[in-house]
Amino acid sequence: MQRSEIFKKLSDFIKIESVSTDKNRFSHLLKAAEFIRKELLALDFKVDIYQKKESSPLLIGKKTIASKAKTLCFYAHYDVQPEDPLKDWQSPPFELSEKNNRYFGRGIADDKGHLFQLLVSARELVKANSLKNNLIFIFEGEEEIGSPNFEELIQKDDDIKNVDAFYLVDMEVRDKETAKIFYGLRGIVGFELKLKTAENDLHSGVFGNLVDNPVQIVANLLSKIKSTRLKIKIPRFYDKVRKISKGEIQLLKKSGEVQAKIYPSFDVNGIVAGFTGEGIKTIIPSQATVKFSFRLVPDQDPREIQELVLDFIKKQIPKKIAYEIKIFHSSNPLYVNLDNEFIKKTAQVLRKYFKKGVLFDRSGGSIASAEILFRLYKKPVILIGFINPESNIHAPNENFDKELFFKGIEVLRSIFNLS
Ligand SMILES: [Zn+2]
Repeated sequence: MQRSEIFKKLSDFIKIESVSTDKNRFSHLLKAAEFIRKELLALDFKVDIYQKKESSPLLIGKKTIASKAKTLCFYAHYDVQPEDPLKDWQSPPFELSEKNNRYFGRGIADDKGHLFQLLVSARELVKANSLKNNLIFIFEGEEEIGSPNFEELIQKDDDIKNVDAFYLVDMEVRDKETAKIFYGLRGIVGFELKLKTAENDLHSGVFGNLVDNPVQIVANLLSKIKSTRLKIKIPRFYDKVRKISKGEIQLLKKSGEVQAKIYPSFDVNGIVAGFTGEGIKTIIPSQATVKFSFRLVPDQDPREIQELVLDFIKKQIPKKIAYEIKIFHSSNPLYVNLDNEFIKKTAQVLRKYFKKGVLFDRSGGSIASAEILFRLYKKPVILIGFINPESNIHAPNENFDKELFFKGIEVLRSIFNLS
Protein backbone atom coordinates (compact mmCIF):
# COMPACT_ATOMS: atom_id res chain seq x y z
CA MET A 1 0.00 0.00 0.00
CA GLN A 2 1.31 3.45 -0.94
CA ARG A 3 1.83 5.88 1.95
CA SER A 4 -0.63 8.32 0.42
CA GLU A 5 -3.25 5.58 0.22
CA ILE A 6 -2.56 4.59 3.84
CA PHE A 7 -2.93 8.23 4.92
CA LYS A 8 -6.26 8.56 3.15
CA LYS A 9 -7.74 5.35 4.58
CA LEU A 10 -6.40 6.07 8.05
CA SER A 11 -8.00 9.54 7.82
CA ASP A 12 -11.36 7.92 7.17
CA PHE A 13 -10.86 5.74 10.24
CA ILE A 14 -9.77 8.60 12.55
CA LYS A 15 -12.73 10.68 11.35
CA ILE A 16 -15.13 8.26 13.06
CA GLU A 17 -15.68 9.58 16.59
CA SER A 18 -15.73 6.20 18.32
CA VAL A 19 -15.70 7.54 21.89
CA SER A 20 -16.99 4.65 24.00
CA THR A 21 -17.57 6.72 27.15
CA ASP A 22 -20.08 8.91 25.26
CA LYS A 23 -23.47 7.22 24.83
CA ASN A 24 -24.49 9.88 22.30
CA ARG A 25 -21.80 8.71 19.95
CA PHE A 26 -22.75 5.04 19.97
CA SER A 27 -23.53 5.17 16.24
CA HIS A 28 -19.86 6.06 15.65
CA LEU A 29 -18.78 2.85 17.35
CA LEU A 30 -21.01 0.89 14.99
CA LYS A 31 -19.59 2.86 12.10
CA ALA A 32 -16.01 2.08 13.14
CA ALA A 33 -16.86 -1.61 13.44
CA GLU A 34 -18.38 -1.54 9.97
CA PHE A 35 -15.27 0.17 8.58
CA ILE A 36 -13.10 -2.62 10.00
CA ARG A 37 -15.46 -5.37 8.86
CA LYS A 38 -15.21 -4.14 5.27
CA GLU A 39 -11.42 -3.97 5.45
CA LEU A 40 -11.23 -7.54 6.76
CA LEU A 41 -13.61 -8.83 4.10
CA ALA A 42 -11.49 -7.15 1.42
CA LEU A 43 -8.55 -9.20 2.74
CA ASP A 44 -10.61 -12.34 2.42
CA PHE A 45 -10.88 -12.78 6.20
CA LYS A 46 -13.88 -14.50 7.71
CA VAL A 47 -15.50 -12.06 10.12
CA ASP A 48 -17.53 -13.02 13.19
CA ILE A 49 -19.21 -10.35 15.25
CA TYR A 50 -20.36 -10.69 18.85
CA GLN A 51 -22.42 -8.06 20.52
CA LYS A 52 -24.75 -7.56 23.44
CA LYS A 53 -27.60 -5.09 23.37
CA GLU A 54 -26.11 -1.59 23.62
CA SER A 55 -22.53 -2.87 23.59
CA SER A 56 -20.17 -2.07 20.75
CA PRO A 57 -19.38 -5.03 18.49
CA LEU A 58 -16.47 -7.36 19.18
CA LEU A 59 -15.04 -8.25 15.77
CA ILE A 60 -13.09 -11.44 15.20
CA GLY A 61 -11.36 -11.73 11.84
CA LYS A 62 -9.90 -15.04 10.75
CA LYS A 63 -7.59 -16.14 8.01
CA THR A 64 -6.82 -19.83 7.87
CA ILE A 65 -3.87 -20.97 5.79
CA ALA A 66 -3.53 -24.59 6.87
CA SER A 67 -4.85 -26.57 9.79
CA LYS A 68 -1.37 -27.58 10.85
CA ALA A 69 0.03 -24.06 10.69
CA LYS A 70 0.38 -22.03 13.89
CA THR A 71 -2.45 -19.71 14.81
CA LEU A 72 -1.37 -16.27 15.99
CA CYS A 73 -3.89 -13.88 17.43
CA PHE A 74 -3.62 -10.09 17.58
CA TYR A 75 -5.74 -7.79 19.73
CA ALA A 76 -6.35 -4.06 19.25
CA HIS A 77 -9.23 -1.72 20.12
CA TYR A 78 -11.13 0.77 17.98
CA ASP A 79 -12.76 2.85 20.70
CA VAL A 80 -11.02 6.05 21.76
CA GLN A 81 -10.95 8.52 24.65
CA PRO A 82 -13.00 11.74 24.58
CA GLU A 83 -11.20 14.65 22.88
CA ASP A 84 -11.60 17.29 25.59
CA PRO A 85 -10.13 19.77 26.40
CA LEU A 86 -10.68 20.75 22.78
CA LYS A 87 -8.92 24.13 23.09
CA ASP A 88 -5.57 22.44 23.71
CA TRP A 89 -5.53 20.65 20.36
CA GLN A 90 -3.35 22.23 17.67
CA SER A 91 -5.38 20.51 14.94
CA PRO A 92 -8.96 19.18 14.91
CA PRO A 93 -8.93 15.90 16.92
CA PHE A 94 -10.87 13.83 14.42
CA GLU A 95 -8.94 14.97 11.37
CA LEU A 96 -5.74 13.07 10.72
CA SER A 97 -2.91 15.57 10.20
CA GLU A 98 0.82 15.44 9.78
CA LYS A 99 3.43 17.66 11.41
CA ASN A 100 7.10 17.22 12.37
CA ASN A 101 7.09 13.65 11.09
CA ARG A 102 4.18 12.68 13.31
CA TYR A 103 0.59 11.81 12.63
CA PHE A 104 -1.91 13.62 14.89
CA GLY A 105 -5.49 12.70 15.75
CA ARG A 106 -7.63 11.23 18.54
CA GLY A 107 -7.00 7.49 18.68
CA ILE A 108 -4.00 7.46 16.32
CA ALA A 109 -1.77 6.15 19.14
CA ASP A 110 -4.38 4.45 21.33
CA ASP A 111 -5.26 2.28 19.54
CA LYS A 112 -6.56 2.90 16.01
CA GLY A 113 -3.06 3.36 14.58
CA HIS A 114 -1.98 -0.08 15.81
CA LEU A 115 -5.20 -1.64 14.57
CA PHE A 116 -4.61 -0.10 11.17
CA GLN A 117 -1.00 -1.35 11.12
CA LEU A 118 -2.32 -4.87 11.62
CA LEU A 119 -4.65 -4.48 8.63
CA VAL A 120 -1.92 -3.08 6.38
CA SER A 121 0.60 -5.80 7.33
CA ALA A 122 -1.94 -8.55 6.74
CA ARG A 123 -2.93 -7.04 3.41
CA GLU A 124 0.66 -7.08 2.18
CA LEU A 125 1.12 -10.76 2.99
CA VAL A 126 -2.30 -11.81 1.74
CA LYS A 127 -1.88 -9.96 -1.58
CA ALA A 128 1.56 -11.53 -2.08
CA ASN A 129 0.15 -14.89 -1.11
CA SER A 130 2.97 -15.34 1.38
CA LEU A 131 1.21 -15.62 4.74
CA LYS A 132 2.63 -18.61 6.65
CA ASN A 133 0.55 -18.77 9.83
CA ASN A 134 -3.17 -18.66 10.53
CA LEU A 135 -4.21 -15.26 11.80
CA ILE A 136 -6.99 -14.22 14.14
CA PHE A 137 -7.66 -10.54 14.83
CA ILE A 138 -9.66 -9.50 17.86
CA PHE A 139 -10.89 -5.91 17.62
CA GLU A 140 -12.72 -4.56 20.66
CA GLY A 141 -14.80 -1.39 21.01
CA GLU A 142 -15.05 -1.19 24.80
CA GLU A 143 -11.46 -1.05 26.00
CA GLU A 144 -11.67 2.52 27.27
CA ILE A 145 -14.65 1.63 29.47
CA GLY A 146 -12.92 -1.35 31.09
CA SER A 147 -13.97 -4.16 28.69
CA PRO A 148 -17.20 -5.01 30.58
CA ASN A 149 -18.39 -7.61 28.03
CA PHE A 150 -15.11 -8.96 26.73
CA GLU A 151 -14.90 -12.08 28.89
CA GLU A 152 -18.43 -13.15 28.02
CA LEU A 153 -18.28 -12.37 24.29
CA ILE A 154 -14.87 -13.85 23.53
CA GLN A 155 -15.98 -17.23 24.84
CA LYS A 156 -18.70 -17.40 22.21
CA ASP A 157 -16.01 -17.94 19.60
CA ASP A 158 -14.74 -21.50 19.37
CA ASP A 159 -11.75 -20.75 17.17
CA ILE A 160 -9.94 -18.77 19.88
CA LYS A 161 -9.20 -22.11 21.56
CA ASN A 162 -6.79 -22.91 18.71
CA VAL A 163 -4.64 -19.86 19.26
CA ASP A 164 -0.96 -20.58 20.03
CA ALA A 165 -0.03 -17.09 21.17
CA PHE A 166 -1.82 -13.79 21.75
CA TYR A 167 -0.36 -10.39 20.92
CA LEU A 168 -1.87 -7.32 22.47
CA VAL A 169 -0.85 -4.42 20.28
CA ASP A 170 -1.50 -1.36 22.45
CA MET A 171 1.86 -0.53 24.06
CA GLU A 172 4.86 1.71 23.55
CA VAL A 173 8.53 1.46 22.68
CA ARG A 174 11.25 2.98 24.88
CA ASP A 175 12.50 5.16 22.01
CA LYS A 176 12.96 4.99 18.26
CA GLU A 177 15.85 2.55 18.57
CA THR A 178 14.66 0.45 21.52
CA ALA A 179 11.61 -1.80 21.45
CA LYS A 180 9.80 -3.24 24.44
CA ILE A 181 8.01 -6.47 25.27
CA PHE A 182 5.66 -6.22 28.24
CA TYR A 183 5.09 -9.49 30.10
CA GLY A 184 3.31 -8.32 33.24
CA LEU A 185 0.54 -5.99 34.35
CA ARG A 186 -0.82 -4.90 37.70
CA GLY A 187 -4.38 -5.74 38.68
CA ILE A 188 -6.81 -3.45 40.46
CA VAL A 189 -9.64 -3.43 42.97
CA GLY A 190 -11.63 -0.34 44.00
CA PHE A 191 -13.89 0.56 46.95
CA GLU A 192 -16.37 3.21 47.96
CA LEU A 193 -16.99 3.60 51.69
CA LYS A 194 -19.89 5.69 52.99
CA LEU A 195 -20.16 6.57 56.68
CA LYS A 196 -23.15 8.11 58.37
CA THR A 197 -22.94 9.29 61.98
CA ALA A 198 -26.02 11.55 62.28
CA GLU A 199 -29.15 12.63 60.42
CA ASN A 200 -27.89 16.20 59.94
CA ASP A 201 -24.68 18.16 60.23
CA LEU A 202 -24.24 19.29 63.84
CA HIS A 203 -23.01 22.52 65.48
CA SER A 204 -19.40 21.92 66.59
CA GLY A 205 -19.73 24.28 69.55
CA VAL A 206 -22.61 22.28 70.93
CA PHE A 207 -21.69 18.75 69.91
CA GLY A 208 -17.86 18.83 69.76
CA ASN A 209 -16.30 16.11 71.96
CA LEU A 210 -19.73 14.50 72.28
CA VAL A 211 -20.29 12.84 68.89
CA ASP A 212 -18.20 11.00 66.31
CA ASN A 213 -16.94 12.87 63.29
CA PRO A 214 -17.11 10.70 60.12
CA VAL A 215 -14.24 12.56 58.44
CA GLN A 216 -12.03 11.83 61.43
CA ILE A 217 -13.01 8.16 61.30
CA VAL A 218 -12.17 8.00 57.59
CA ALA A 219 -8.83 9.74 58.19
CA ASN A 220 -7.96 7.26 60.95
CA LEU A 221 -8.86 4.34 58.74
CA LEU A 222 -6.84 5.58 55.77
CA SER A 223 -3.77 6.19 57.90
CA LYS A 224 -4.06 2.66 59.24
CA ILE A 225 -4.21 1.16 55.75
CA LYS A 226 -1.01 2.90 54.76
CA SER A 227 1.30 5.23 56.65
CA THR A 228 4.45 5.45 54.56
CA ARG A 229 4.71 5.71 50.81
CA LEU A 230 5.13 2.00 50.21
CA LYS A 231 3.87 -0.22 52.96
CA ILE A 232 0.24 -1.34 53.13
CA LYS A 233 -0.56 -2.48 56.67
CA ILE A 234 -3.57 -4.71 56.11
CA PRO A 235 -2.70 -8.15 57.58
CA ARG A 236 -1.84 -10.81 54.97
CA PHE A 237 -2.03 -8.26 52.15
CA TYR A 238 1.37 -9.34 50.78
CA ASP A 239 0.95 -13.11 51.31
CA LYS A 240 0.44 -13.97 47.64
CA VAL A 241 2.90 -11.51 46.11
CA ARG A 242 5.10 -13.44 43.72
CA LYS A 243 8.78 -13.46 44.68
CA ILE A 244 10.84 -11.41 42.30
CA SER A 245 14.45 -12.39 41.70
CA LYS A 246 17.36 -9.94 41.71
CA GLY A 247 17.85 -10.87 38.07
CA GLU A 248 14.34 -9.82 37.17
CA ILE A 249 14.66 -6.53 39.05
CA GLN A 250 17.87 -5.84 37.12
CA LEU A 251 16.07 -6.64 33.87
CA LEU A 252 13.22 -4.28 34.74
CA LYS A 253 15.54 -1.49 35.89
CA LYS A 254 16.83 -1.22 32.34
CA SER A 255 13.34 -0.02 31.40
CA GLY A 256 13.19 2.69 34.07
CA GLU A 257 11.47 3.14 37.45
CA VAL A 258 10.39 -0.18 38.93
CA GLN A 259 8.42 0.78 42.04
CA ALA A 260 5.10 1.35 40.31
CA LYS A 261 5.42 -1.95 38.48
CA ILE A 262 6.58 -4.47 41.06
CA TYR A 263 4.87 -3.27 44.26
CA PRO A 264 1.16 -3.10 45.01
CA SER A 265 -0.11 0.37 45.81
CA PHE A 266 -2.95 2.02 47.70
CA ASP A 267 -4.47 5.26 46.47
CA VAL A 268 -7.16 7.45 47.94
CA ASN A 269 -9.04 8.59 44.85
CA GLY A 270 -11.39 11.10 46.48
CA ILE A 271 -13.22 12.16 49.63
CA VAL A 272 -16.55 13.98 49.80
CA ALA A 273 -17.70 15.29 53.18
CA GLY A 274 -19.00 18.32 55.03
CA PHE A 275 -18.59 21.92 54.04
CA THR A 276 -16.38 22.61 51.01
CA GLY A 277 -17.34 26.22 50.23
CA GLU A 278 -15.29 29.36 50.95
CA GLY A 279 -14.44 30.31 54.53
CA ILE A 280 -15.36 27.99 57.35
CA LYS A 281 -18.54 26.49 58.66
CA THR A 282 -18.29 25.16 62.19
CA ILE A 283 -20.07 21.88 61.74
CA ILE A 284 -19.52 18.25 62.47
CA PRO A 285 -20.50 16.63 59.16
CA SER A 286 -23.11 13.90 59.31
CA GLN A 287 -21.55 11.79 56.59
CA ALA A 288 -18.40 11.13 54.61
CA THR A 289 -17.70 9.17 51.43
CA VAL A 290 -14.27 8.01 50.37
CA LYS A 291 -13.18 6.19 47.23
CA PHE A 292 -9.94 4.28 47.21
CA SER A 293 -8.26 1.59 45.13
CA PHE A 294 -5.42 -0.89 45.27
CA ARG A 295 -3.17 -1.80 42.38
CA LEU A 296 -2.23 -5.45 42.72
CA VAL A 297 0.80 -7.38 41.54
CA PRO A 298 1.22 -11.02 40.45
CA ASP A 299 -0.08 -13.34 42.03
CA GLN A 300 -2.47 -11.37 44.27
CA ASP A 301 -6.12 -12.29 43.80
CA PRO A 302 -8.57 -9.36 43.75
CA ARG A 303 -11.28 -11.43 45.47
CA GLU A 304 -8.98 -12.40 48.32
CA ILE A 305 -7.82 -8.81 48.68
CA GLN A 306 -11.46 -7.67 48.81
CA GLU A 307 -12.05 -10.02 51.72
CA LEU A 308 -8.95 -8.82 53.59
CA VAL A 309 -9.91 -5.18 53.07
CA LEU A 310 -13.53 -5.68 54.18
CA ASP A 311 -12.33 -7.49 57.27
CA PHE A 312 -9.84 -4.77 58.10
CA ILE A 313 -12.44 -2.01 57.72
CA LYS A 314 -14.85 -3.87 59.95
CA LYS A 315 -12.24 -4.08 62.69
CA GLN A 316 -11.16 -0.43 62.38
CA ILE A 317 -14.50 1.37 62.34
CA PRO A 318 -16.17 1.70 65.76
CA LYS A 319 -19.04 -0.77 66.08
CA LYS A 320 -21.76 1.85 66.62
CA ILE A 321 -20.99 3.63 63.32
CA ALA A 322 -23.16 2.72 60.34
CA TYR A 323 -21.37 2.32 57.02
CA GLU A 324 -21.94 1.00 53.51
CA ILE A 325 -19.28 -0.33 51.20
CA LYS A 326 -19.31 -0.88 47.45
CA ILE A 327 -16.69 -2.79 45.51
CA PHE A 328 -15.91 -2.15 41.89
CA HIS A 329 -13.51 -2.38 39.05
CA SER A 330 -11.64 -5.52 39.75
CA SER A 331 -9.04 -7.02 37.44
CA ASN A 332 -6.37 -9.65 37.99
CA PRO A 333 -2.67 -8.96 37.58
CA LEU A 334 -0.88 -10.64 34.67
CA TYR A 335 2.44 -12.44 34.63
CA VAL A 336 3.64 -14.31 31.56
CA ASN A 337 6.73 -16.49 31.88
CA LEU A 338 9.48 -15.03 29.67
CA ASP A 339 10.81 -18.49 28.99
CA ASN A 340 8.65 -19.35 25.98
CA GLU A 341 9.33 -19.70 22.27
CA PHE A 342 6.96 -16.95 21.13
CA ILE A 343 8.49 -14.30 23.34
CA LYS A 344 11.96 -15.37 22.24
CA LYS A 345 11.10 -15.30 18.54
CA THR A 346 9.28 -11.99 18.88
CA ALA A 347 12.32 -10.51 20.61
CA GLN A 348 14.48 -11.73 17.71
CA VAL A 349 12.24 -9.97 15.22
CA LEU A 350 12.28 -6.73 17.24
CA ARG A 351 16.08 -6.84 17.47
CA LYS A 352 16.26 -6.91 13.69
CA TYR A 353 14.33 -3.65 13.39
CA PHE A 354 15.46 -1.78 16.51
CA LYS A 355 19.17 -0.89 16.63
CA LYS A 356 19.41 -0.92 20.42
CA GLY A 357 17.39 -4.10 20.79
CA VAL A 358 14.51 -4.92 23.05
CA LEU A 359 13.74 -4.33 26.74
CA PHE A 360 11.47 -6.52 28.84
CA ASP A 361 9.07 -4.65 31.05
CA ARG A 362 6.02 -4.86 33.26
CA SER A 363 3.38 -2.16 33.23
CA GLY A 364 1.99 -0.52 36.36
CA GLY A 365 -1.42 -0.26 34.71
CA SER A 366 -4.13 -2.85 34.14
CA ILE A 367 -5.47 -4.14 30.81
CA ALA A 368 -8.52 -6.34 31.33
CA SER A 369 -8.47 -8.08 27.94
CA ALA A 370 -4.86 -9.25 28.32
CA GLU A 371 -5.53 -10.81 31.68
CA ILE A 372 -8.77 -12.41 30.47
CA LEU A 373 -7.14 -14.01 27.41
CA PHE A 374 -4.31 -15.38 29.54
CA ARG A 375 -6.63 -16.75 32.21
CA LEU A 376 -9.10 -18.35 29.78
CA TYR A 377 -6.76 -19.85 27.21
CA LYS A 378 -3.50 -20.32 29.15
CA LYS A 379 -1.34 -19.31 26.19
CA PRO A 380 1.37 -16.66 26.19
CA VAL A 381 0.09 -13.09 25.98
CA ILE A 382 2.74 -10.76 24.57
CA LEU A 383 2.20 -7.03 24.87
CA ILE A 384 3.86 -4.90 22.22
CA GLY A 385 3.33 -1.63 20.39
CA PHE A 386 5.09 1.09 18.43
CA ILE A 387 4.07 4.44 19.88
CA ASN A 388 6.66 6.38 21.83
CA PRO A 389 6.31 7.86 25.32
CA GLU A 390 5.56 11.31 23.83
CA SER A 391 2.41 10.10 22.08
CA ASN A 392 0.01 11.98 24.42
CA ILE A 393 -2.42 9.09 24.74
CA HIS A 394 -5.72 10.11 26.39
CA ALA A 395 -4.60 13.76 26.04
CA PRO A 396 -4.76 16.55 23.44
CA ASN A 397 -2.44 16.30 20.42
CA GLU A 398 -2.29 12.51 20.49
CA ASN A 399 0.27 11.42 17.91
CA PHE A 400 2.18 8.55 16.34
CA ASP A 401 5.72 8.99 15.08
CA LYS A 402 5.72 8.30 11.33
CA GLU A 403 8.96 6.37 11.25
CA LEU A 404 7.74 4.10 14.06
CA PHE A 405 4.37 3.75 12.36
CA PHE A 406 5.89 2.33 9.18
CA LYS A 407 8.50 0.33 11.06
CA GLY A 408 5.66 -1.22 13.07
CA ILE A 409 4.01 -2.42 9.88
CA GLU A 410 7.20 -4.23 8.87
CA VAL A 411 7.68 -5.73 12.34
CA LEU A 412 4.12 -7.04 12.45
CA ARG A 413 4.52 -8.57 9.01
CA SER A 414 7.57 -10.50 10.29
CA ILE A 415 5.72 -11.59 13.44
CA PHE A 416 2.77 -12.83 11.35
CA ASN A 417 5.19 -15.15 9.59
CA LEU A 418 7.15 -16.38 12.64
CA SER A 419 8.37 -19.91 12.01
ZN1 LIG B 1 -5.47 1.38 24.47
